[in-house]
Amino acid sequence: MKIGGLQKLSLIDYPGKPACTVFLSGCNLKCGWCHSPQLVVDEKIESSPGIKRDQLFDFLKKRVNVLDGVVICGGEPTIHDQLFELIKEIKDLGYAVKLDTNGTNPEMIKRLSDADLLDYVAMDLKAPLEKYKKATGVSVSSSVLRKSIALIKDLQDYEFRTTIIPGIHEKRDIIDIAHEIRPAKRYYLQNFRNKRTVDDSFKDKKAFDKKFLKKIKGEIEDFFEICEIR
Ligand code: SF4
Repeated sequence: MKIGGLQKLSLIDYPGKPACTVFLSGCNLKCGWCHSPQLVVDEKIESSPGIKRDQLFDFLKKRVNVLDGVVICGGEPTIHDQLFELIKEIKDLGYAVKLDTNGTNPEMIKRLSDADLLDYVAMDLKAPLEKYKKATGVSVSSSVLRKSIALIKDLQDYEFRTTIIPGIHEKRDIIDIAHEIRPAKRYYLQNFRNKRTVDDSFKDKKAFDKKFLKKIKGEIEDFFEICEIR
C-alpha cells in the first residue's frame, strides 16, 4: 500500500470537522474523467515519491489536538488489505475517520464497520449499476455495489455522490441512481471539471449548465434528507 499524498488541512473534505486527507495510490476502476492520474496511472504512481507511513503517523501524533478527523481517499482505498490496520491505528490516536470509496469492496466496508472503525463513509456512484462497464471501463457486479450501498446506509453518518459527466450521463441516469439508493441521508450531485483528467479526451468536455443540475435535483431531492449540488 503506497501513501500517495497527504493534505495537511481540509475544511471541506470531512463535513463539520477540520481534517487532513490521506491519499492512497491505486484504483480498480478506470474512469476516463478521473482527476487524480497521479494516484491511478501505474507509471505515475511509480514515479511519485509518496509518503512513508512513519512520516504520516509523526504528523498525526503532532496534530491530535488540532485536527478532529482523517479522510482516507484514493485512488480506491479498499483495494488494500492493509487499510484495516491503517484505519485502526488512526482511530487509536483518537481521530474520527471518513472513508471515501467507490463501493467495490463491501467485505472491507463490513470488516471496518463491524470493528466500529468508520465514522463517515462517502460512496461514489459512477453510473446506474448496470452501466458501470460503459462508464468506468470495468465490469462491476450490481450485487456487489448493492451490498456496499446497504452497509453504508446502516452507518450513522454517510453520503452518496455522483460526478455528472458530459458524454457519459444523461438526466435519466442520475434519476435511476437516485431511485437505486433512495431513501438515504445525503446525495450530492457534483459537476464535472475538466482541469485534469486521466483520459485527455475529457479535457475538451464542458461542465453541465447549473440549470441542468438544478432540474435533476428538483426531481430527486424528496428521496433524501439532504440533496445538494456541489
Ligand atoms: S474517479 Fe475514483 S474510482 Fe474512478 S479511476 Fe479515479 S479514483 Fe478510481
